Amino acid sequence: MTPEERSIREMTREFADGEIRPRSAGWDDHRRLDEDVLGMLAEFGFLGMGIPEAFGGLGLDLSTCLAATEELARGDGSVALSVSMQNGPVTSLLLAHASEELQHELLPGIASGARLVAFALGDRGAADAEDAGDAIATPVGDGWRLDGHKHWVVDGDRAGAAVVFARPDPDGETGGGLGAFLVDTSAAGYRVVRRRETLGLCAAEIVDIELDGVAVSADRVIGRPPRGDEYAREVLPLARLGGAAVALGIAQAAFEHAARYSREREQFGRVLTAFGAIRHKLAGMATRIAAARALVRETAVALEAPGAEGGIGLASWTDRPGLSATPDMARWAASHAAVSVAREAVQIFGGYGYMRDYPVEKLMRDASGTGICEATGEVLRIIAARGFGATVATG
Ligand SMILES: Cc1cc2nc3c(=O)[nH]c(=O)nc-3n(C[C@H](O)[C@H](O)[C@H](O)COP(=O)(O)OP(=O)(O)OC[C@H]3O[C@@H](n4cnc5c(N)ncnc54)[C@H](O)[C@@H]3O)c2cc1C
Repeated sequence: MTPEERSIREMTREFADGEIRPRSAGWDDHRRLDEDVLGMLAEFGFLGMGIPEAFGGLGLDLSTCLAATEELARGDGSVALSVSMQNGPVTSLLLAHASEELQHELLPGIASGARLVAFALGDRGAADAEDAGDAIATPVGDGWRLDGHKHWVVDGDRAGAAVVFARPDPDGETGGGLGAFLVDTSAAGYRVVRRRETLGLCAAEIVDIELDGVAVSADRVIGRPPRGDEYAREVLPLARLGGAAVALGIAQAAFEHAARYSREREQFGRVLTAFGAIRHKLAGMATRIAAARALVRETAVALEAPGAEGGIGLASWTDRPGLSATPDMARWAASHAAVSVAREAVQIFGGYGYMRDYPVEKLMRDASGTGICEATGEVLRIIAARGFGATVATG
């Protein structure tokens, strides 16, 4: 860890301990964040961690962004989910493919918290680029008209704008590739039709959107349709690593609660840590977190290394000695760690772990979301396996 990364991690931990953790259970109960939270996140720079300083962001490297996201998730997974969306796919897509005018319009607003940008990729709840196809873009004059639906969009209501992926030519010669369009959420025809109620990450704003003849002018098209699939594939590795950081934070919180409880709770006249079975559980939990964190960090460093391309896969791994992990592997390991560590934490709390009065029950629900949201463990393994030349139907 660089000194900068260490100091940002410590500062974020302090912020999360003071401002987020104490309010997390209440947000879970009420299924929403308090209005002031995003303002506070912006004030401390968390929404613009990955945005260059020239646009008002902190310009942090990927490893440091992920370390801070993990600490925020240790405070609350829903908060960290929003932060990871802004710093990951949204920021990197705008930096790589939006016009200079759009970058100047949007990036300072994201960094200051004035205007979040949602990332609306999936239609039927599938985040894999190939499956995102229900929204249609029709050329009208110099611009476009969007119709259709986008499902399960994080912050799709509170955001001031959304990057909407839609197919410009569903049955045509371009093979139905996607376009990426910037839509103001106040535009006529952009409607939030449903807010989803989830098992975990309950305070996250996850909404379904209807697009009914939304007009998009030519200067608000990102890159060139139909290359949106390519852009999505470029930025999804960052979404994967952001999700991995969220999973690590949830796992770390569950571990810390379980370790503390084990030292305090007495049974048969001894604290729980006197029992080998409990110590072995704690050792296994700590090991799974440390291993996943190392994988996430190594992948982040490799992605930013000179010459590294976004969207590295196993094929490039075999060609590049020293690069031993991909974002898909890292995300899978981190989600797996979160689910198993949170489950063990509930077990260590015994009956109390099953009660809503104690924090590990929520963490177990939140952890389960990290194994599904954005890409499931099964799909991550399929993507990782592509590099081995396996022929896999990704229905
Ligand atoms: C909290 C949360 C937030 C989300 N936020 C967003 C968002 O902001 N934007 C967005 O676009 N989407 C979002 N999603 C959607 C998420 O990305 C999808 O739920 C996820 O990709 C899985 O797709 P699905 O739900 O359609 O499941 P399905 O694809 O129907 O999968 C069902 C089951 O089949 C398995 N499966 C699927 N295909 C295969 C295969 N080829 N081989 C083997 N097994 C397979 C899956 O692993 C799973 O177990 C969110 C989801 C959650 C839970």
